[in-house]
Formats: sequence, structure tokens, C-alpha cells
Amino acid sequence: MTVESPSRRLGDDLSHEWDVLIVGAGIGGLTAAGHLAMAGRRVLVLEQDRHVGGTAHVFRRRDFVFPAGPLSFTVPASLARTLRELGTTTQALSFERDVFQVRRDDLDVIISMPLSRLEAQLTGAFSAEAVGLRSVFAVLREVVGALRRLRPADLGAEPPLDAAGAWSQLAVS
Ligand SMILES: Cc1cc2nc3c(=O)[nH]c(=O)nc-3n(C[C@H](O)[C@H](O)[C@H](O)COP(=O)(O)OP(=O)(O)OC[C@H]3O[C@@H](n4cnc5c(N)ncnc54)[C@H](O)[C@@H]3O)c2cc1C
Repeated sequence: MTVESPSRRLGDDLSHEWDVLIVGAGIGGLTAAGHLAMAGRRVLVLEQDRHVGGTAHVFRRRDFVFPAGPLSFTVPASLARTLRELGTTTQALSFERDVFQVRRDDLDVIISMPLSRLEAQLTGAFSAEAVGLRSVFAVLREVVGALRRLRPADLGAEPPLDAAGAWSQLAVS
């Protein structure tokens, strides 16, 4: 893939023959472009911004890195499959669970953990709020239970090839 300077004149590109124009070089546009190019189509991706990646982008200010969007991959199996299909990587991919941590004054809580352990941490840190916290976690468990029972067919969507693997990863224990 060639990434051209944003100052390049659009007329130069449109003088060629393209089978497909894709507006937006986010993950969606780039993935579609990759699949179409693999299928032999001539594809032009047009992006208004200075960077590719769309929402999946980080910017830096002094020593700090600010993610503008995703911090992790919600369905890593789907990402791995897409990268394989596009020939981007031939190596086996492995994913590590991200650690999301909240630190403030004397509070230090890792929130990317099973609900039961998170509940124990928070009720320990905020004992005066224990009753309210327990009812919030009860609702969260109900939501997780409903998600576990949900299948792509329920949404009228075509299941991905590795649907079983992808959907099982959405469930948090
Ligand atoms: C704060 C935040 C946190 C997130 N966290 C996660 C996460 O943890 N895990 C996860 O899996 N997902 C997460 N997501 C979702 C994920 O980032 C998005 O689903 C995904 O990046 C969307 O990709 P996209 O290509 O559909 O759209 P976008 O990334 O929005 O890309 C669209 C592109 O089109 C361009 N464009 C739009 N209009 C035009 C135009 N007229 N001409 C030219 N270019 C145009 C835009 O500049 C942009 O580059 C998060 C999203 C946000 C906002």
C-alpha cells in the first residue's frame, strides 16, 4: 500500500482508471480496500485527514501519548483472521489482555478483570457505597448473561466464519 501526501492533487489520481473509490482510510475503509485489492480490483482510498487509521490513531504531546480511539481489540480473533486473509502477516498472532487501571490519590484499581473481583475491589475501596455497587454489578451480570446468549443470527447478521470463537470472546466473566 502506498500512502501519499495529503497535499497531492486529487485530479492526478482521478485521471487513472479505478474500479472502486473508498472514502475514508479508517480500519473499515482500509480493510475493504485490502479485500478488494486482493480480489484484483483497482482501488483508490481517499482520506481527508493527515493520517490513515481514522479513529484508531494516537497523537503525542511532549512525553504523553493520547489514544484517540481504541485501547484494545474487542474481537481479536476477527482481527487475526482479517490480517491473515490480507496477507499482512504470516506469523501466528497472540494477544495479551490489556490492563486498564484507575489511579487517583489513594485509589489504585485495575478495572480489566472479572466482574466478581472488580466488585470485591470496589466495595473494599468504597465500603460506604457497597449496597449501591452491588446492585450495579447485579445489572452488569444480567447484561453479560444476555450477551452470552446472544448469537449473530439474533441480530440478523451473517455470522463471521469463526463466529463461535469471536462471539465467545465478547463475554466477560
Ligand atoms: C473513544 C473510542 C474508543 C474505542 N475503543 C475501542 C476498543 O477499545 N476496541 C475496539 O475494538 N473498538 C473501539 N472503538 C471503535 C473503533 O475505534 C471503531 O469501530 C473503528 O476504528 C471505526 O473504524 P471505521 O473505519 O469504521 O471509521 P473511522 O475510524 O471513523 O474512519 C473513518 C475515516 O473516514 C474519513 N472520512 C470521513 N469523511 C470523509 C470524507 N468526506 N472525505 C475523506 N475522508 C473522510 C475520516 O477522516 C476517517 O479517517 C473505539 C472508538 C472510539 C471513538
